[in-house]
Amino acid sequence: MTLNLSDLSKTYGQFKFGPFDLRVEDGVLAVLGPSGSGKTTLLSLIAGITEPDSGSICLNGRELVGHPLENRDVGMVFQEGALFPHMTARENIAYAATTAARVDGLAATLEIEDILNRSPPVLSGGEYQRVALARTLATDPAVLLLDEPLSSLDTPIRRRLRDELHSLFESLDIPILYVTHDQRTATALGDRIAIVRDGMLEQVGDSSTVVEQPATEFVARFTGNENLFEGSVIEHSEQGVTVRVGDVELQTATSNIGQSDITVCIHPSRVEIKPSRAPDDEQIINTITGTVTRWLNEGSEYQIEMATSWGSPALTASVHPPVFERLTIDTGTELQIMIPPSSIHLMPNRG
Ligand code: ADP
Ligand code: MG
Repeated sequence: MTLNLSDLSKTYGQFKFGPFDLRVEDGVLAVLGPSGSGKTTLLSLIAGITEPDSGSICLNGRELVGHPLENRDVGMVFQEGALFPHMTARENIAYAATTAARVDGLAATLEIEDILNRSPPVLSGGEYQRVALARTLATDPAVLLLDEPLSSLDTPIRRRLRDELHSLFESLDIPILYVTHDQRTATALGDRIAIVRDGMLEQVGDSSTVVEQPATEFVARFTGNENLFEGSVIEHSEQGVTVRVGDVELQTATSNIGQSDITVCIHPSRVEIKPSRAPDDEQIINTITGTVTRWLNEGSEYQIEMATSWGSPALTASVHPPVFERLTIDTGTELQIMIPPSSIHLMPNRG
């Protein structure tokens, strides 16, 4: 299946969505963007809840614009509250399903057999969303749209359901658009990620490409990369260009950069740190010294902010707890910082 959006636009007062072009094949496309960027508008247009001002939405060559939502073969799961409250969970799913066997099959897949006779108001958040998903899947949609379906759940349930969704999605051979404002959910579930900003598509690509080679500073910051530095290209060589940030020269693995004023982007997870004055470090390329100015425990990883010889802004490294503990890090700790050339991404300067 292929879903093709072209030149899609919709205006609500001050808010302009599009023109939006996007091609979605089978697999999960995570749609990531801040609140108010137009994510729900995008899904509503595809589902047929909203009609666009102009543009086209093609599903395997069939135009959807102008067709009522019940004829679109598009299933949508909402952030919250779309089940019929006066029906049981089973009745809600059966309402959409073609056969009773389908209801039982979905109930088994989504592990909701035990709650089928309950009514939506007594279900927990996680149970409710499982039933909502079962009801949507019962229609055998050709495209599945999910609008932040986990955002109202508590963290442990959200994580568990997210992992389960991951395996469920792999078993569905249809285009899936999964809307979220959370980068971790986007990278965990998305084969590809589309970043939306102010109603426009900012970048779309493989999860790792979007995270490690952001096209713009907005994408970098929105995917958790604060390490953006003004720099300039000083030399082209076979290995890649050498750039200067402050007084520091860094070897990169990039060769295709045309201009000399650039923004240097280094994902925090790619910054390697060691105790200062480790004996063999002089030899390693792109080794600089840093002093910890701040650190933050984010649960599964630590963010370490360091002042380096290139001055401000600070460089951030993210490390796993065992690394953090081994290095006995605190404010003022001196460290050796190594930045592998292949981990340095160059962007055209904002100026
Ligand atoms: P997101 O889902 O990314 O938070 P939305 O698509 O819900 O963003 O909204 C994008 C913008 O469009 C917001 O400014 C919102 O107020 C506006 N908007 C969305 N739906 C409507 C509507 N039905 N009528 C008027 N304005 C709307
Ligand atoms: Mg929304």
